[in-house]
Amino acid sequence: MTDIEKPTLVWLRDDLRLADNPALAAGAQLGAPLVIVYILDEMSEGIRPLGGAAKWWLHGSLEALSKDLASRGQRLVLRHGPAVDVLLELSGEIGAGHVFWNRRYGGGERAVDAAIKTSLKATGVVVESFQANLLHEPWTVRTQAGQPFRVYTPFRKACRAQLPPRTPLPAPDALPLPLPDVRTDSLSDWRLMPTKPDWAAGLRATWTPGEAGARTQFQTFRTERLKDYAARRDEPAADVSSRLSPHLRFGEISPFQLWHGVSPEALAETPKIELANVDKFLSEIGWREFSWHLLFHQPDLATRNFQSRFDAFPWPAVNEASLVAWQQGRTGIPIVDAGMRELWQTGFMHNRVRMIVASFLIKNLMVDWRIGEAWFWDTLVDADAANNPASWQWVAGSGADAAPYFRVFNPVLQGEKFDARGDYVRTYVPELANVPAKQIHAPWKSGGVAGYPEPIVDLGATRERALRAFAQMREEE
Ligand code: FAD
Repeated sequence: MTDIEKPTLVWLRDDLRLADNPALAAGAQLGAPLVIVYILDEMSEGIRPLGGAAKWWLHGSLEALSKDLASRGQRLVLRHGPAVDVLLELSGEIGAGHVFWNRRYGGGERAVDAAIKTSLKATGVVVESFQANLLHEPWTVRTQAGQPFRVYTPFRKACRAQLPPRTPLPAPDALPLPLPDVRTDSLSDWRLMPTKPDWAAGLRATWTPGEAGARTQFQTFRTERLKDYAARRDEPAADVSSRLSPHLRFGEISPFQLWHGVSPEALAETPKIELANVDKFLSEIGWREFSWHLLFHQPDLATRNFQSRFDAFPWPAVNEASLVAWQQGRTGIPIVDAGMRELWQTGFMHNRVRMIVASFLIKNLMVDWRIGEAWFWDTLVDADAANNPASWQWVAGSGADAAPYFRVFNPVLQGEKFDARGDYVRTYVPELANVPAKQIHAPWKSGGVAGYPEPIVDLGATRERALRAFAQMREEE
């Protein structure tokens, strides 16, 4: 068998799509028998095991991908275990001539990929990796002094100075046949879905994991939401953001598809959309790129302060009752409770509300940002190894280009400003359904509401306490 006739192995990871998938396209183009594998790796050092909500999503995404592949005469092989062992074994088992994958940017992931590449190359297998999930790979964007960026605006400027992102690839029309008899795990044996209890009803009602779901979501965004995006993206009840984050997290749609999907040519058919909306959307995609830039240069971003001076921050012992009240959305602060309940019910939370609940946990409850980050990691369907820690550190003040620590969100004012009619609160806090808009963000000021808790903390006093702790940290610098 010549190298070209030997089977090709395509390893899919955070790129669960057929369209704009360079590794898959390369495998298709070679024309040799094709084995497509996904490996559930919960053991390799430095790779963060998925949280519960993300596991739920992964199940749906793999199921959808399997169907899409089956409709093209292909199949998805599932294996689990440490990726180095599993991939090398599978490659040997099928006698692969080529192994292709799209690049990942986390520290643990890169170490795994590098180890596999070295071993495979030593046995004569051709290994090739591709750029698929970021518009700007972290090492390609540097300050003039050759350093990684620590501030968003110049980072984005440097990205924009580069060539426009490549055009997305179409899904391959036809795929080479699979190899028969390659063993696969059964997806249900992975037990990614919760059973006892089955807490995923709200997730099922809200989301359609998979590439087709991502496409539909993006189309809805372009035709119905984008026109209001810049003006209203901070309003949680307005529903104008794309809600593409979990689809992006699992690579069911690529940033290249998004970038080109909002170009003037692509939007020619839709009613006129002001450029400010497109700019704002691409700027948010830019924040995602920035988070990955940060994670690439600091792989332990989820556990270590980006600004080391925060290592001296005097976190008090955690008050478990307060933490549980926050997690369950029973703090007595309506916008915080609405956000935490949205999260629990749907696996998602609006961006503005994420900032508010994070600020409340860190500043008003004085809980270390890492504890909040871990809760989000477990409960968000879009839990992202870069965006999540980068955003928590941003709110904490310990991150890159962060909000200054002394900027403490006032959840009452935030609610009044961004949920002025109280619609968002009413959706998730039914106890407050009949409270008029004027009182809904601070019901305790008008005597409280039966069945809804009093605030667990005094917002003003806890704000002062947080500022004192910050001052103490600075004195120790
Ligand atoms: P859109 O407004 O439609 O934005 C489009 C895409 O841009 C998003 O899907 C996302 O990929 C990216 N994006 C938008 N805002 C940001 C941002 N501030 N930072 C980085 N990327 C952004 N996002 C995650 O994807 N995963 C997380 O785990 C996550 N954790 C967060 C934790 C906190 C405390 C905060 C404040 C923010 C977090 N974010 C996270 C960022 C942001 O809240 C979500 O990306 C956004 O709410 C997703 O909604 P959307 O897809 O409708 O966003």
